[in-house]
Amino acid sequence: MIPAAFEYLRAHSIDETCAYLQQHGAEARVLAGGQSLIPAMRFRLARPAVIVDINPVAELSYIRPDGAVLAIGATARDAEVERAPWTADRRWSLLADVSRVVADPVVRQMGTVVGSLCHNDPAGDWPATALAGRASVVVRGKAGTRIVSIDEFLVDSFTTTVGEGEMAVAVHFPVPDDRTAGSYQKVERKVGDFATAAAAVQVSLDANGTIRHAGVALSAAGPCAVRVEEAERALAGQKPTAELIRAAADAAARRSVPQGDLRGSVEYKKNLAGVLVARGLRQALARLGVQL
Ligand SMILES: Cc1cc2nc3c(=O)[nH]c(=O)nc-3n(C[C@H](O)[C@H](O)[C@H](O)COP(=O)(O)OP(=O)(O)OC[C@H]3O[C@@H](n4cnc5c(N)ncnc54)[C@H](O)[C@@H]3O)c2cc1C
Repeated sequence: MIPAAFEYLRAHSIDETCAYLQQHGAEARVLAGGQSLIPAMRFRLARPAVIVDINPVAELSYIRPDGAVLAIGATARDAEVERAPWTADRRWSLLADVSRVVADPVVRQMGTVVGSLCHNDPAGDWPATALAGRASVVVRGKAGTRIVSIDEFLVDSFTTTVGEGEMAVAVHFPVPDDRTAGSYQKVERKVGDFATAAAAVQVSLDANGTIRHAGVALSAAGPCAVRVEEAERALAGQKPTAELIRAAADAAARRSVPQGDLRGSVEYKKNLAGVLVARGLRQALARLGVQL
């Protein structure tokens, strides 16, 4: 199908984007990589009257350290993260892993990290990653700029705190300390498919090998990406052991509330969520030199 008729506006700055969005209110949608919005429009699941294309906005195209965070601008592509040299550093292994398994290489050339967070597909790979990495999103609108924690940003399926007349300008990932590593574990039916289940984990150890902090989150495990706080609490302050990993995995399986579909039954997906959290924790710890 072809999309319903719409007005196409090209923005050249953040201010111009916000002005267009405020002028057209609920009728307007931001166009970033177009990898979710355009298919939705073609199937007429989305019928925005106005599209505001942010691709010409040069000030949104960056991935850069910004004090204590890594800032990823709204038009930075998945493929730019995948190719970035800093992903070889184990501190960024969660981002390195996820950037290789989001969709397929063609989609990753256009799809953006921030667009994926704004789309907030329950099976999307970036929302769970942002939860485990304790990210925040920078939102700009009429009232100025606000920085929203990812927990607050992700409201429900395909819904975020970005309101009418607002846009997300960047996502900020806190720069992890040296004794931090992560892992993204995804089971998909074939390359380019959304997750049957996926787990994002990030672990920081202190000098004596105790887990100082753990981030654990799931994709395709509910109406929106799920943070497994019970697992995070169980891990924090403990020495890593096989029993501890099993306890975290069990907490993840309990917390997972997937939908049964062609990719698998509810039981299968809940079990898989636990298995993937255990695999992710083992891999993150192995990257820190702890074999379990
Ligand atoms: C074949 C195929 C396979 C895919 N497989 C996967 C997969 O395995 N895992 C996965 O996670 N994703 C997958 N995707 C989705 C893909 O990753 C999208 O790129 C991503 O979900 C959205 O990013 P985008 O930049 O293309 O956003 P767009 O499609 O441009 O926008 C998506 C939504 O977010 C809004 N939006 C975008 N940017 C902003 C902003 N800065 N401020 C406010 N609102 C904004 C738009 O208005 C729209 O509502 C797949 C897509 C395709 C086509």
